[in-house]
Amino acid sequence: MSLIKDTLSRIQQSSPGEPEFYQAVEEVLESLEPLFKKEKKYSEHNIIQRIVEPERMITFRVTWIDDKGKIQVNKGYRVQFSSAIGPYKGGLRFHPSVNSGIIKFLGFEQIFKNSLTGLPIGGGKGGSDFDPKGKSDNEIMRFCQSFMTELYRHIGDTIDIPAGDIGVGGREIGYLYGQYKRLTGSYEGVLTGKKIPWGGSLARTEATGYGAVYFADSLLTSRNDQLAGKTAVVSGSGNVAIYTIKKLIEMGATPVSCSDSRGFIYHKTGINLNTLQQLKEQGKNESLEEYAKIHKDAKYTPVKDYPKGRNPVWSIKCDLAFPSATQNELNLADAKELLKNGCILVAEGANMPSTPEAVHAFLEAKILYGPGKAANAGGVATSQLEMSQNASMLQWSFEEVDGRLRNIMHNIYLSASQTAEEFGQPHNLVLGANIAGFRKVANAMIDQGA
Ligand code: GLU
Repeated sequence: MSLIKDTLSRIQQSSPGEPEFYQAVEEVLESLEPLFKKEKKYSEHNIIQRIVEPERMITFRVTWIDDKGKIQVNKGYRVQFSSAIGPYKGGLRFHPSVNSGIIKFLGFEQIFKNSLTGLPIGGGKGGSDFDPKGKSDNEIMRFCQSFMTELYRHIGDTIDIPAGDIGVGGREIGYLYGQYKRLTGSYEGVLTGKKIPWGGSLARTEATGYGAVYFADSLLTSRNDQLAGKTAVVSGSGNVAIYTIKKLIEMGATPVSCSDSRGFIYHKTGINLNTLQQLKEQGKNESLEEYAKIHKDAKYTPVKDYPKGRNPVWSIKCDLAFPSATQNELNLADAKELLKNGCILVAEGANMPSTPEAVHAFLEAKILYGPGKAANAGGVATSQLEMSQNASMLQWSFEEVDGRLRNIMHNIYLSASQTAEEFGQPHNLVLGANIAGFRKVANAMIDQGA
């Protein structure tokens, strides 16, 4: 369709060298075709060309002093993509791969994800190419302080509320928040993912992983099936993977894998959560090789032994797959292998972990497929619950927050699946999630004028 081609060639010209952003835009636009055929108002109001252009893209220099006293320089970003339905909301990613295209793809996805939660939050994202790996605690602190010294003038509790993402957890949010308060004298809930004693929400740390499992549960229940007794492969070993593994165990499934940038673990009898947490939580990033030294029946495979162009995590025989590491970690060959081995469900804890070809393979096979913007929306939804608690100066119990999270995930499932059904493709939750998320934002844009 020329709308997709026109839009893509326009953004490729105006923003060259951003392949992940084009990939995210193309996937959303493909899904919107049936909506555009049905309703003319979106093209009349030129919504597509407006929505692919961020309201604001902020880039800044971050200088900080390393432990040797040397001045280091990194790039900082914040994209304020859409405020149609609420203040900009989305995480900060600190990882050497971060560039404007990655930030824009994440910010673009965030618009629709946030809309799908049913809560009044717009889409944003930010981060830096700073690599936290191997940095001392003091270096991390100095970097975060310098990052916030630039960012603080652009954010606020009703303007833009950053949170964590890859490389940004409770420790980093603490240093960022401390600096924000130092600069503004304000104690407002300007960041989410805070630790509990200073304004954080119970269940926020667990929320993305738990939410992905709740979403998988809704998917299975729709086919009169259940999590209990199933074998699950999980990639990643950060916050999302850890709490996906925890909830899977609680619900009677057996997660058998986890991975990091150096290799992966296959533990047939089930991942030991305590060991994983000891190696990977609270800013620790020990090698997963240590896991196999503690659990002799687990097998560690380093990245150098991976077959070319493949992620062997997806070759493990399983019923369920939870890609929870990073974008494009699961390609067509991996998808085919999962399908061949009888996998019946994929729920994405990471953002855009499956390549477009892999997504098509899942849709064609009509397995249960929960795209990231639906399946991993529990994190940002719980961030909004943290904002609500901050605004009312209250703290809800774990059960209260977890109960709300569970409802939100079920409602996201319902909204995506009912929309997919409305457009005659009941199994296609990519289409359902994209149309449901888009429609609300686009209608708000029309209501509010150009
Ligand atoms: N980084 C998370 C995401 O991808 C959470 C964002 C937030 O809590 O604002 O949705």
